[in-house]
Amino acid sequence: MLRYRTVPVTAFAQNCSIVWCDETMEAAVIDPGGDLERLLGEVKALGVSLKAIWLTHAHIDHAGATAELARRLSLPITGPHEGDKFWIDALPQQGAMFGFPPAETFTPTRWLHDGDTVRIGHCELAVRHCPGHTPGHVVFHSKEAQRAFVGDVLFVGSIGRTDFPGGNHAELLASIRERLWPMGDETVFIPGHGPEGSIGLERRTNPFVGERA
Ligand SMILES: [Zn+2]
Ligand SMILES: [Zn+2]
Repeated sequence: MLRYRTVPVTAFAQNCSIVWCDETMEAAVIDPGGDLERLLGEVKALGVSLKAIWLTHAHIDHAGATAELARRLSLPITGPHEGDKFWIDALPQQGAMFGFPPAETFTPTRWLHDGDTVRIGHCELAVRHCPGHTPGHVVFHSKEAQRAFVGDVLFVGSIGRTDFPGGNHAELLASIRERLWPMGDETVFIPGHGPEGSIGLERRTNPFVGERA
């Protein structure tokens, strides 16, 4: 079964998640935006073996420490969708703009597409392409664990910003309605910022995209 621990990183308190298979103790880290020493400390404390980096999108708070972590531990980089290549290429400028430590660009080992799957140990997660916040944003869904790691697509009571280059409000709403709601009301989502939520509760009450929006 998939297990996870969420560690807020960077000045933006971005929810980096360490996910692992509790049979093999192999782990992936989703969105290592920064604070690598803290993240690696958690990995050590959990007793898991880090095998991969998975990215939802390439904003600095999610992807800023990717290149350094990949190099230090020789990890493959999976995701995001290639629509975010321009954001990866702009990581050094994003870092300077937001006062982050210098961030390096990188080339993902594997770009992701809607309908792909990613694996860690015996656990398989489905990849859904959810553009709108960024063009290449993807989310990771474990049907077995009823958990979805959704980056900056959906938050408790809110949705991702769409005023950045490549953002698209209508596309974001369509991504949520067509790709997140079908995961089922019982699914718990882990957003890029703030507390975990329930897909069912957001579907009913979210003021931007819920039934009464
Ligand atoms: Zn973002
Ligand atoms: Zn974010």
